[in-house]
Amino acid sequence: MLNDNTKVALVTGGSRGIGAAISLALGKEGYYVVVNYNHNETHANNIVKQITENGGSAMTIQGNIAESTDCIQMVSSIKEKLGKIDILVNNAGITRDRSFRKMSLTEWQEVINTNLSSAFHMCSLVIPDMVERKYGRIINISSVIGQSGGFGQTNYAAAKAGLIGFSKSLALETARYGITVNNICPGFIGTEMVGAMPEEVLKGIVAKIPVGKLGDPNDIAEGVVYLVNAPYMTGQCLNINGGLYM
Ligand code: NAP
Repeated sequence: MLNDNTKVALVTGGSRGIGAAISLALGKEGYYVVVNYNHNETHANNIVKQITENGGSAMTIQGNIAESTDCIQMVSSIKEKLGKIDILVNNAGITRDRSFRKMSLTEWQEVINTNLSSAFHMCSLVIPDMVERKYGRIINISSVIGQSGGFGQTNYAAAKAGLIGFSKSLALETARYGITVNNICPGFIGTEMVGAMPEEVLKGIVAKIPVGKLGDPNDIAEGVVYLVNAPYMTGQCLNINGGLYM
């Protein structure tokens, strides 16, 4: 068990890309970081190693956030080891892009389950204790695509827009208990997810970004640190997108 002063942050998909930057930033800020991953343990171990080498504390936890049973297991194992979860960053997400007329039900469901239903599973497991302790920070990583739409992304846009409405409603219900619920809507950030896009498509996107380049995962991590330290900010969406959507 930890002493009462150390706050515990769980970052879903904290092993790669934006989530890895968030884990490292929260580790530097002195939070005990639980780095969740689904498939690749090596990446998660590497992030924990970097956090501990920087003088912080962290552990990994495997679990598929699209599955409620995995979420239940993860949260109960963290509570057993560390006693609590103070900060939840719902970051893990996937794309299954395809034009709507060709999209399969499986592609629709995979994205909705991973990018939206996961927030329901995780929040329903951490909120009761947060209410009791009168403290909590929930940060949902949505997307500019949830605001503007995206070609070939009806599933992804629906999930990410859903996350915004979910967060606002949950913020209303939990504000009186010292819990804040906010979104970050990243624009296009240089991670493997964006690297998987065809080069020509990516070039076209970068040409439309007013600052003229992709974002860095650290840009999003800085937003998370800001929101963790912002008790009077709830139900909001922090747009970190290089001016792509205003
Ligand atoms: P990424 O590089 O593909 O990394 C995804 C992370 O999520 C990995 O750690 C992966 O773990 C984990 N993950 C995937 N499915 C999971 C599941 N079912 N259960 C648990 N963990 C799972 O993605 P990213 O670009 O950093 O994106 C992170 C978040 O930001 C996503 O929600 C994404 O939609 C959002 N976002 C990204 C961008 C962008 O431009 N990159 C823009 C807007 C929003 P394993 O490796 O173990 O599978």
